[in-house]
Amino acid sequence: MSKEFDVVVIGAGPAGYVAAIRAAQLGMSTACIDKWLNPGDKPSLGGTCLNAGCIPSKALLESSELYEKANKQFDKHGIKLGSVELDLAQMQKRKTGIVSTLTGGIKALFKANGVTPLMGSGQVVDSGEVLFTGHDGEEETLKAENIIIASGSAPVELGIAPFDGDRIVDSWGALEFDAVPERLGVIGAGIIGVELGSVWSRLGSDVMLLEAVDEFMPATDRQVATEATKAFKKQGLDIKLGARVTGAEAGKNEVKVSYELGGEEHEATFDKLIVAVGRRPYTDGLCAKSAQVSLDDKGYVAVDEQYRTSLPGVYAVGDVIGGAMLAHKGMGEGVAVAEILAGEKPQVNYDTIPSIVYTAPEMAWVGRTEADAKAADIDYRVGQIPFASNGRAKALGDDTGFVKMIARADTDEIIGVHMVGPYVSELVQELVVAMEYKASSEDLARIVHGHPTLSETVHETALAVAQRPIHFPPRRKRGKR
Ligand code: FAD
Ligand code: AMP
Repeated sequence: MSKEFDVVVIGAGPAGYVAAIRAAQLGMSTACIDKWLNPGDKPSLGGTCLNAGCIPSKALLESSELYEKANKQFDKHGIKLGSVELDLAQMQKRKTGIVSTLTGGIKALFKANGVTPLMGSGQVVDSGEVLFTGHDGEEETLKAENIIIASGSAPVELGIAPFDGDRIVDSWGALEFDAVPERLGVIGAGIIGVELGSVWSRLGSDVMLLEAVDEFMPATDRQVATEATKAFKKQGLDIKLGARVTGAEAGKNEVKVSYELGGEEHEATFDKLIVAVGRRPYTDGLCAKSAQVSLDDKGYVAVDEQYRTSLPGVYAVGDVIGGAMLAHKGMGEGVAVAEILAGEKPQVNYDTIPSIVYTAPEMAWVGRTEADAKAADIDYRVGQIPFASNGRAKALGDDTGFVKMIARADTDEIIGVHMVGPYVSELVQELVVAMEYKASSEDLARIVHGHPTLSETVHETALAVAQRPIHFPPRRKRGKR
């Protein structure tokens, strides 16, 4: 006997669980299948984000930053701690506790909204039909008017440095170390690489990041990248740009890595090696041979603007369709696809999706960089204000970095904001709202911001676009033409 649903979602990461909840809210009978297993073969909802990505990494970033502050900064506040000791087991326990609270929260939300969770794997057999295989191996055919694929992504593995789960690990493995590696190598200085490198560097590892590209985070505003690189260097992160890893050999106690830099072959030895060279769409076993959805040339599930795949009644959202591989992008698409199924006309604005790096200093941005504006032949004005002129930043003891705003010269519409500094992960959201409503820099400049808050630097930056900051001397800067 088969079960029938209006919607079956495959994947309970941020894209899938949100799609399932929204579909249920809109009155559709909904099931959500997920095959994730945590250590000890424990099924868990929440996908990469909650179990092995956003949440555990932020938990460890917070703990490790506090550890570093206790070691290096509390004395400046007049707080003497004596000796500071690391209890990594407790740090990891706290992280695991946060993960299980939040994944349990999704279970509760499913219950409250009437979503049926099915723990095991799902396979699209045809339009309207999914084969569910439970973790016990039992199979069940599910009929569904609509199917939503939200199967996410997996870490890219390098042939020259295959994961062995011990010496050479992926980002999940790097969140689970039970001892601080003395020498840690990271291949790839993208967002995940620098976040994980920061965690272990703060906890005492000697960290070397090997990045094939010559520029640090090439898609990021150059000034933001430069400011962050300066701070990372000061913290002791050894970021080698233009360093292409050519081989890795794991031994019993260490791993030897060879890389090319400046035309020469180099070698480095580490206790652990993290491979963080990007993520690939995860479609393994997703479709039966008879019901393949079309993939694009990079392996992402191909969809149209309504998230329809090549199979009628089968939709896809989240990392598996590409674009910014971010949890909030997937959540936005999850809501949108459910509303489309309900006959509504939602739209995700891909121009205002923020990017955030949770290092110290944090980096955050939304919209176009100056390079983008130049390439698009847009005449623009720039305002830039450092946190050094902000009273709250001084009080926090963290006044590195700045806010930089780019606005069209003709209409003054804000087209990009790039930040590096304290809590910019939170500050960026004001700009997302502003840009969503097509605000001008003057609109923001006319809004009274609370004092003393970090958001005053956003306000001053808006004033700076028109060369009239109050708490900083004006500086002339104009873009193209
Ligand atoms: P996923 O979260 O990957 O979920 C897909 C789910 O589908 C998985 O649970 C998988 O088990 C399940 N699945 C796949 N195939 C099947 C099948 N056939 N049957 C049943 N189940 C299936 N993003 C941010 O926005 N902010 C961050 O701070 C951030 N930090 C990150 C840190 C790290 C270390 C990593 C690795 C990623 C981070 N990301 C972050 C990215 C974020 O985790 C992803 O963008 C997000 O999880 C994608 O959501 P998704 O729902 O598309 O896929
Ligand atoms: P991201 O895609 O943002 O997670 O970043 C992954 C980074 O890994 C990119 O900046 C790549 O340039 C880098 N990368 C990929 N392969 C290699 C390699 N063999 N050696 C060093 N860096 C690499």
